[in-house]
Amino acid sequence: MDYRPELVGGHLVLDLVNTVAWRLDDRRRVDRLADPGNLRKWLTATGLEPSDREAGTALHDTLVHCRETAYAVLHPLALGAEPAADDLAVLRELIEDAVRKASLVSSRPLTWHADTIADRVRLSVWRLFEDEDLSRLRQCDDGECGWLFLDRSKNGSRRWCSSADCGNRARARRHYQRRHTGASA
Ligand SMILES: [Zn+2]
Repeated sequence: MDYRPELVGGHLVLDLVNTVAWRLDDRRRVDRLADPGNLRKWLTATGLEPSDREAGTALHDTLVHCRETAYAVLHPLALGAEPAADDLAVLRELIEDAVRKASLVSSRPLTWHADTIADRVRLSVWRLFEDEDLSRLRQCDDGECGWLFLDRSKNGSRRWCSSADCGNRARARRHYQRRHTGASA
């Protein structure tokens, strides 16, 4: 099927994490970025503007490293658990690397610039952890989806990555179960 990147995470790095579909289902899990055409679509959708020089296997490897490093820490946080020390150590390395390669372009406020897509995504990982309220981080309620997002709703009630997708499927499932158990709503 035609890949259309869905940017529902509320942050570039969460949209990167969500390039793995069906993450919680071993049989269906798929890395959308493994296909070079899809990788290019995702970069365009997120405004990272791929150049021919940068697209390719090396970029894919870097993005996967950023994605899985971030996910290893974000997943427990989304569930209200503490990330493992080893995973935090890998994250720290990635962030230190990002800062080392970035140039400081303004001092008030501190503004960092990175030249390559890979370094910009690394900087973005740093910003997510530095700037965002991660108490708002959620995992989609679907048992297999596994997508993460920042719940920016006023009352903190967002349950689904996409109400049109996982939310709809859950409603359909409840409807089916009601019909087949004879219970009323
Ligand atoms: Zn979902």
